Amino acid sequence: MPNTGISRRTVLAAAGATAAVAATGIATAPAATAAAAPTLPNGTSKDKVLVVGMDGLRYDRIDAAKAPHLKSLMTNGTYGRSLLYANPMAATSSGPGWSTISTGVWPDKHGVKDNTFAGKNYGRYPGFLARLHQVRPELSLFAAVDWPELDTHGTVTPGADAKLVYNNDYVVNDLVITDITEDILRNQNPDVLFVYFGETDEIGHNNGAASPRYLDAIDVQDGYLGRLLTAIKARPAYATERWTVVVTTDHGHTDGGGHGGSSIEERRTFVLAQGPGIVAGARPIDTRLVDVAATVFHQLGITPDPSWGLDGKPIQQRSTDPFDSLYGSLTGRVDETGIPAGVLGFTRTPPSGWSVVNNAMGTGGVTEWRGWSFATDEFWSRSQRDQSRELNVRARGVFAVADSDEWADKTFSGPYDSTLVTPAYGVSGASSVTLDFTTFYRQEGAQTAQVLASFNGGTPTPVKSYTADAVSQPQSLTVAVPAGASSVSFRFRYTGANNWYWTIDGVKVTAS
Ligand SMILES: [Zn+2]
Repeated sequence: MPNTGISRRTVLAAAGATAAVAATGIATAPAATAAAAPTLPNGTSKDKVLVVGMDGLRYDRIDAAKAPHLKSLMTNGTYGRSLLYANPMAATSSGPGWSTISTGVWPDKHGVKDNTFAGKNYGRYPGFLARLHQVRPELSLFAAVDWPELDTHGTVTPGADAKLVYNNDYVVNDLVITDITEDILRNQNPDVLFVYFGETDEIGHNNGAASPRYLDAIDVQDGYLGRLLTAIKARPAYATERWTVVVTTDHGHTDGGGHGGSSIEERRTFVLAQGPGIVAGARPIDTRLVDVAATVFHQLGITPDPSWGLDGKPIQQRSTDPFDSLYGSLTGRVDETGIPAGVLGFTRTPPSGWSVVNNAMGTGGVTEWRGWSFATDEFWSRSQRDQSRELNVRARGVFAVADSDEWADKTFSGPYDSTLVTPAYGVSGASSVTLDFTTFYRQEGAQTAQVLASFNGGTPTPVKSYTADAVSQPQSLTVAVPAGASSVSFRFRYTGANNWYWTIDGVKVTAS
C-alpha cells in the first residue's frame, strides 16, 4: 500500500472494518490480502517501548497455559499482580480498564466508568501516546487496536503517527495486527508501540476463563507476542537499542465467562515488564494498573510533570511504605467466612516502631478487625463485596485498616475505639512537619476519625477530622513545629459502632 509521502498520520482499516473508515481516505484492503504496513516517521530514540495489551486475560490462567513467551517475560522481568476497582467507581470493563492503562490515572480522574465512555476526561488526562506526542514530538509512535472503541473514543490512538484500527473480529484481526506490527518492527524504526489483542476476552465470554479454549486463546496470543519479541531481536540495530516490553490486561473474567462485576476473578489484573533497570523475577506487591503509563515514561527517561496528575509509578520503584514490610507475616482468616482459607492477608501486629492503642476498645467481635489491622486489598475487600472496599485504589500492598462494620459482624460489647500510632520522627530545628498518606474513609452515623499530632510525647492535638466520605484520596497535612520540639508522632484514632471503615497507607513524614 503506497502510504509513503501521503501523510505522517496514516490509518489502515482491514477486512470487515467498515466502522473504522480510513481517516486519510486511503482505500482499505481486506485482511486476506495482507494489508501493507503504514510508513512511520523514522524513530529518534534508542530507548524503545512495546506495550502489548491482552484483553480480559486472567493472570492465574497464564500458569495453566503453555504461554512460553509470557512465562519467559515473567522470568526475565518484573510481574506485579493486583486487583481493580469495582462499581460505583467503575465497572471491571474494557472502557475503564484501557483508560486506566493508557492515562495512568484511576477512573475517578479519567472519568470512564463503563463502556459508554460517558464522562471521559482525556483532555485533562490524555493517553500516554498523546502525552508523548506532546512532550517529545520527535518520537515515532504506533498504535494497533481491533476493539475500535479505543480509537473512536480517543482512549489509545491519539498521538500515534500511524495507527491500525480494525473491527472486533479478533480471530482475523489480532493476526493482521501481528503481521503488520512484526513488519514494522523488522523494517522500520518505531520508538513506542501500543498493540492490542482481543481474542482472550472473546473466548472468555464465549467459553469461560475455566475452559481449555481460554487456555488455547492465551497460547495463540502468546505466539503473537513471541513473533513481536523475535522481530525486535532481529532488528539490525538491536544491540544498540534499549527495549522495554510491557504486557498488561484491562480486567479478568469469571470462570464461566463475563466481567464488569466485583468478583475477585473479574478484578484480577497485572503489569508484566522486561527491560533496562527492571529486575528479573521480581514479584512486587505494590504494583497497580496505573503503573503502565508511568513505566513507559520512565523507560524513555521522561519525568512526568506533577501537573499531569499521574497516579502511577514505574514498575521498578518500590513503595517505601512501612506496612508493606508486614507482607511476609500476614496470616489467614480467623472469624471471617467470605475469605478463602488460603488467602494470607492480615495481621494485627504493627510494623516495628508503630503501635496500636486498644485500651478503650470493646471486646469480642470479628478477630481480624478488633482494632487497627494491616491487610491486603485481596483480603480486606473479600471480607464483604459491594460495600465500596474495592475502591481503595490508591493503597498499595499492605495498608492499615480500621473496620468497625466487619468487626461488628460477630457478637461484641463496647465501642470500636482504636488508635494507630506512628514512630517518633525528629523535628529539631524544623519550623513545620508534613504528614503525607493516602486514605479511604467511609462515614456513617456517630463514627469519628481524627489525625492527631504529639510533640515530644505531649498531649496529642487534632490536626484533621473526617466527617464525610473521602474515597481513596492522597492527603498532605502540614503542622507547625512548636519552639523547642525535637520529635513528633502522629495518631490515627477511629471510633464507631456498627458503621464503616478507615484505611491509611503510604505514610511519609517530612520535617522542613
Ligand atoms: Zn469483555
